[in-house]
Amino acid sequence: VTRRVGLFGGTFDPPHLGHLLIAEWALEELELDRVVFMPAGSPPHKRRHELSAADARIAMTRLATSRNPRFRVSTLETRRRGLSFTVDTLRELKRSTRGADLVLILGADSLDDFRNWHAPREIMRLATLAVAARPAAHRVRRRRGVVALQNPPLALSSSAIRARVRAGRSVRYLVPDAVARYIARHRLYAGRS
Ligand code: ATP
Repeated sequence: VTRRVGLFGGTFDPPHLGHLLIAEWALEELELDRVVFMPAGSPPHKRRHELSAADARIAMTRLATSRNPRFRVSTLETRRRGLSFTVDTLRELKRSTRGADLVLILGADSLDDFRNWHAPREIMRLATLAVAARPAAHRVRRRRGVVALQNPPLALSSSAIRARVRAGRSVRYLVPDAVARYIARHRLYAGRS
């Protein structure tokens, strides 16, 4: 049975080695049975750039995670209509895992923003927060229900990767090779942010 499940939400546009590293750290430090990568459908707090199609983000997330038997990719949020709220996703996961312990994995920058999320108290009731160190984000304050991952901070972001692709620069070693190939083959990120 699966007792401890990590939920790792993001836009994953594209998924990069920073994402994979913190999922691995969460697996190990919180002794998770698996980590579910959840590409966001229509994220309420993220309209900064035009998102790539859900199919492309799902495909890249699958390519990025396929070699790790404890990583999964879920299309729950991309299949859901309207805005996706983490609290709804956690409720759904609680049901589908028949009550597994849930851990919500997020970067320290996302934690800074957490108070503005929909139903933060309910989220904290449903899951432990595992917060990854990230350069330029605040240090994670110790408090109940929040665990700070001991990951090496990596100054990697999807937006910086998109910018490099747009500028015709290499993203090798920033994303898995299969993701770099997917980006090239589908000409993602060319000519927009
Ligand atoms: P963008 O640059 O487009 O804003 P991003 O690199 O932050 O994207 P997301 O898919 O939005 O990637 O991130 C999903 C989750 O992963 C968020 O909780 C974010 O804080 C976390 N995350 C992303 N990159 C890192 C990193 N380098 N270190 C720690 N956490 C990260």
